[in-house]
Amino acid sequence: MKLTGECFCGEIKYKINGALFDARSCHCSRCRKAFSSQASAYALVNPSEFRWVCGKDYLTTYASQQGFGLQFCKQCGSTLCGIYENEVHGVTLGCLNEDPKIEIGRHIFVGSKASWEVIPKGITQHQEDAPKRRLHSTAYAAHSTNVMCKKS
Ligand SMILES: [Zn+2]
Ligand SMILES: [Zn+2]
Repeated sequence: MKLTGECFCGEIKYKINGALFDARSCHCSRCRKAFSSQASAYALVNPSEFRWVCGKDYLTTYASQQGFGLQFCKQCGSTLCGIYENEVHGVTLGCLNEDPKIEIGRHIFVGSKASWEVIPKGITQHQEDAPKRRLHSTAYAAHSTNVMCKKS
């Protein structure tokens, strides 16, 4: 699969030669702020399949001490991807140009959602984090356990 993504102003563009996996939406207060939205919409990518095409000069990083961070466009403010130790491990679904043929499989920290958000019926919800799955790497673990998220 070939996917492309870009920020709102279009200066930053990326390309993915592969498929996204583990799409999720987190409704915690930190994700609301980080993604400027009611929740995150995020999926993992194999780092070796991700490539910046242009606009890296516009890319700004906000990283936590654990090495996990987000990268966004300093001109328009779009949040484009998640990084672990400076390597891209996931992308925000909103900045994709094509249909990634993946759906958000789980909604986490629904117990912390904003009072104004209405969650549709029939979706998989977790009051806090989803049950832990087998982890192949620290990087995957960092993303999979949502280190930036917290109840509230
Ligand atoms: Zn931009
Ligand atoms: Zn969160």
